[in-house]
Amino acid sequence: AAERVSRFGTTVFSEFSALALKHGAVNLGQGFPDFDGPEAVKEAAQRAIRDGVNQYAMGMGAKDLRQAIAEHAARFYGQQVNPDTMVTVTSGATEAILDVILGLVDPGDEVVAFEPFYDSYDANITFVGAKARYVPLRPPDAQHATWWFDREEVRAAFGPRTRLLILNTPHNPTGKVFTREELEFLGGLCAEHDVKVLSDEVYEHIVFAPARHVRPSTVPVLADRTVTVSSMGKTFSLTGWKIGWVIAPPSLRDAVQRAHQFVTFATASPLQVATAAALRLPDSYFQELATQYLARREKLLRGLKEAGLPAHAPEGSYFILTNISHLGFPDDMAFCRHLVTQVGVAAIPPSVFYSPEHRHLGQGFARFAFCKTDGVLDEGVRRLREGL
Ligand code: PMP
Ligand code: GLN
Repeated sequence: AAERVSRFGTTVFSEFSALALKHGAVNLGQGFPDFDGPEAVKEAAQRAIRDGVNQYAMGMGAKDLRQAIAEHAARFYGQQVNPDTMVTVTSGATEAILDVILGLVDPGDEVVAFEPFYDSYDANITFVGAKARYVPLRPPDAQHATWWFDREEVRAAFGPRTRLLILNTPHNPTGKVFTREELEFLGGLCAEHDVKVLSDEVYEHIVFAPARHVRPSTVPVLADRTVTVSSMGKTFSLTGWKIGWVIAPPSLRDAVQRAHQFVTFATASPLQVATAAALRLPDSYFQELATQYLARREKLLRGLKEAGLPAHAPEGSYFILTNISHLGFPDDMAFCRHLVTQVGVAAIPPSVFYSPEHRHLGQGFARFAFCKTDGVLDEGVRRLREGL
């Protein structure tokens, strides 16, 4: 194998989903719903295939989907998006993240990101020969009602070689939703150092009041420098479709588009037709999604607490980080291995979302996903209560 991939093992998601299958465990690990999205959206995909939408789409994305992405941005964020110059459709947010890093970051540049981080960021930074500078998010404490960051630590991570800041809000795995004030602070630093921003918002519609999703590109200081990344997988409970997109000012969109044309060129045509229909669903669909996730969040939080796993309620995303440090395991990996093989429940050890230097900060937690039907959540909780 080439050096750039030789230090990669199997991703923790594949590893724990395979372990869950092998041990007949309830899978609260990898974040995918165990239910499908709207029938009308699945119907739209089938109709598109029957109607012959089966050849390459336009490289930047089917025109109608780009239009629907612009309408969605206007409806939810009051954002003016030109569908021809500001949008590229990708194969999931995963491709979008790679395209943005390929398009904006040179070898030797530095990228600032928060820990814990979604695992593909670190791999993609490696792919381009850049250097990551990580700033740890700190857990809630007496002074902080939610996960927070030390402003001086962020400031210290910025330097003359910094090209990109990666944001993820709502945040996987902490469930943190960044506030407007936090984004203004970060935007100020980016303006000072002429840094661009990749904003990963795949959980944009899974947010719990009083938290509200603030799209970073709608914060004035960030508007001209932010590439917004999102996808349809979580919002429409169809994670296997892998349709994502970027929205960015034309010059940044161009840089991303140049990378995209040689990464996948174009993405699945019939699923683009159906994604346009999905993005045009009425407001009630999006409200209902958040309401249902709130009920699942409450159910799992309650169950975890009964099983002796206290947790801070996430403000967004479909993940809960529980404290495990009082249980006497050497670390989160040992806890999650025990859980999947002996208790029959899969969770994700969050220390894999940290750099080696800060890995210890994740070792006192485990990540549980609540994008599961009631019966599955109940069975998971029952096993935790009896087996832990
Ligand atoms: N970013 C984050 C924070 C995620 O949690 C995920 C998916 N699990 C992705 C990106 C990838 O999204 P997609 O499936 O659309 O590629
Ligand atoms: N984003 C999902 C998670 O965090 C899974 C993504 C993946 O399997 N690569 O669980």
